[in-house]
Amino acid sequence: MIKYDLHSHTTHSDGQLSVAELLHRAVDKNIDVFAITDHDTVAAIKPAQHIIDTENLPLSLITGVEISTRWESFEIHIVGLNIDTENSDLTALLLEQQQKRETRALEIGTRLAKNGFDDIYEQAKELAKDAQITRAHFARALIARGVAKNFPGVFKKYLGRGKTGYVPSSWCDMQTAIKAIHAAGGVAVLAHPSSYQMSNKWLRKLLVEFKSVGGDAMEVAQPQQAPSDRQFLGELSREYDLLCSQGSDFHFPTSYLELGKNLYLPKDCRGVWQAWEKQEGAAT
Ligand code: AMP
Ligand code: MN
Ligand code: MN
Ligand code: MN
Repeated sequence: MIKYDLHSHTTHSDGQLSVAELLHRAVDKNIDVFAITDHDTVAAIKPAQHIIDTENLPLSLITGVEISTRWESFEIHIVGLNIDTENSDLTALLLEQQQKRETRALEIGTRLAKNGFDDIYEQAKELAKDAQITRAHFARALIARGVAKNFPGVFKKYLGRGKTGYVPSSWCDMQTAIKAIHAAGGVAVLAHPSSYQMSNKWLRKLLVEFKSVGGDAMEVAQPQQAPSDRQFLGELSREYDLLCSQGSDFHFPTSYLELGKNLYLPKDCRGVWQAWEKQEGAAT
């Protein structure tokens, strides 16, 4: 059985392992087909391919990205897989998104400073270094100041939707992200559909919209989910005629989440890899 993990992050966004560390860990976990999907950047992809080639790692890399979009009042993440990372439409969109990240980070910093967290922007930026700055960097800075013990705690208190440090973003819409992914020859995947804190009625509305603007696939399998959730997402994928993806969304080692762990699709689900395996088949 081929082992796929098609969602992961490096220090080029809010992951805490370098590209090399992440790849070595993926090999350790016996992953065969691996996608790096940093937030709004493809900076990890070339270095990753270089490391795989020079070290002759037994793993095949699927190029990827995770694009933040706005739909209704939600921030919806769309993963692009098997993309041409040099495509000009995609590159232009990612540049815009990166500028939005920077603007939003400054605003988050201002808001938090007003609430007693002086220089928190500078601290988050120091953690991010050259990476795309995310709320996770602010979360780490706030945790270092002792406001909460862990990520869920700090998002609940300060960074989650509607909280003091939450700045509604001006991310692109879903159609724009999907178009750019398609322009780059990729497959557009709705990321972690169960994580948006929306009712099933809204989730169905989201799937209708995602499909109608060209979405190709949805994530169905994640390491930590309840079996009933996986089953339900599998059923939705069939109902809305979407291919199925699986990914750990790995950011850093924890006791509860691991690369490649517990990733399999429910029966009768069509793997998203069919999209590129078909292309390869047609090309030969
Ligand atoms: P951003 O894309 O800058 O809005 O940052 C979002 C990132 O923060 C996500 O990709 C997660 O890595 C992390 N994150 C968001 N919400 C939570 C949460 N409730 N608990 C833990 N991490 C979170
Ligand atoms: Mn993240
Ligand atoms: Mn995400
Ligand atoms: Mn992710």
